[in-house]
Amino acid sequence: MIVVMKTGSTKQDVEHVVQLVREMGLKEHIIVGEERTVVAVIGNDRFKDRTVLESAPGVDKVVPILAPYKIASREVKKERTTVSLGKTDASIGGKRIGVIAGPCSVESKPQLLEIAHAVKESGAKGLRGGAFKPRTNPYSFQGLAEQGLELLALAREETGLAVVTEVMSIDQVALVHRYADVLQVGARNMQNFNLLNAVGEQDKPVLLKRGMSATLEEFLLAAEYIMAKGNTQIMLCERGIRTYEDYVRNTLALAAVPELHRVSHLPVVVDPSQGTGKSQLVDSMCRAAIAAGADGLIVEVHHDPEHALTDGAQSITPQQFDQMMKSISRIAAAVDREM
Ligand code: PEP
Ligand code: MN
Repeated sequence: MIVVMKTGSTKQDVEHVVQLVREMGLKEHIIVGEERTVVAVIGNDRFKDRTVLESAPGVDKVVPILAPYKIASREVKKERTTVSLGKTDASIGGKRIGVIAGPCSVESKPQLLEIAHAVKESGAKGLRGGAFKPRTNPYSFQGLAEQGLELLALAREETGLAVVTEVMSIDQVALVHRYADVLQVGARNMQNFNLLNAVGEQDKPVLLKRGMSATLEEFLLAAEYIMAKGNTQIMLCERGIRTYEDYVRNTLALAAVPELHRVSHLPVVVDPSQGTGKSQLVDSMCRAAIAAGADGLIVEVHHDPEHALTDGAQSITPQQFDQMMKSISRIAAAVDREM
């Protein structure tokens, strides 16, 4: 349930509500809105008596939250959440669209720096690149690990781009946190609940990818795990789901964008690279994602896709990325967004 405070309720009123919530054995999550404060009650409140909250001073009303996720729900917070990208002035979730671009994997210093400078030049705000790669085949390239993270930090120093990189397990969280601006939780880990809890305890934003067979409700419950631990800086990333269709690697479910916006206040980022698996489809899907209301994009770019160590088939070149940025800026303007 959520406790909606009256406009003009005092800090003491809110503190009293918090105390009552805790006495019920539940937890609170306070959201200070522009007009009024809302106290979201976290935990299983199905059999709790809410009349005591209803009659507390400063309380306007107590409303049940219908969705199983609470802090991630639009019922709790009407205003959209914006997530800042590291120390840059860019954020994702506002009027301005944020684009994160870079190679699937960090392969070498010249590779990463060449791509980082190129995407920066074309208007990207974040630099992606995996140092720890979740590979289907154990004999495939697994990433450069800490050396890859060091290269990402160097690229940030040279370009000012915010670093977005994947953390695959709890024991990597501290290390990745030291180098990254945004912690990426991959599709294969969307329901790694221990990892979700661990990134929930960090003070850096999380890019949470949708599991390839997860429903939107499961996706939002994964976000809820992170938020329940105190980290509310989350970007939801639609990266395509596994279907019977085989002309693409994954089926990019773009209807998820408006639907996630309807039920949640969290920003939505679309990954058309994993979402299609084919470089020639990336540009169109970027435009479609922006038209559907996406707050950001994460795109794989490689200067030599044919020789990329991972995901070359879905990587666009820096020149194609530059074209794509120009074409999405026209779509952005048409849907009242900015680049
Ligand atoms: C990636 O971004 O390279 C990646 C592995 O993504 P996903 O977790 O969506 O498959
Ligand atoms: Mn990839």
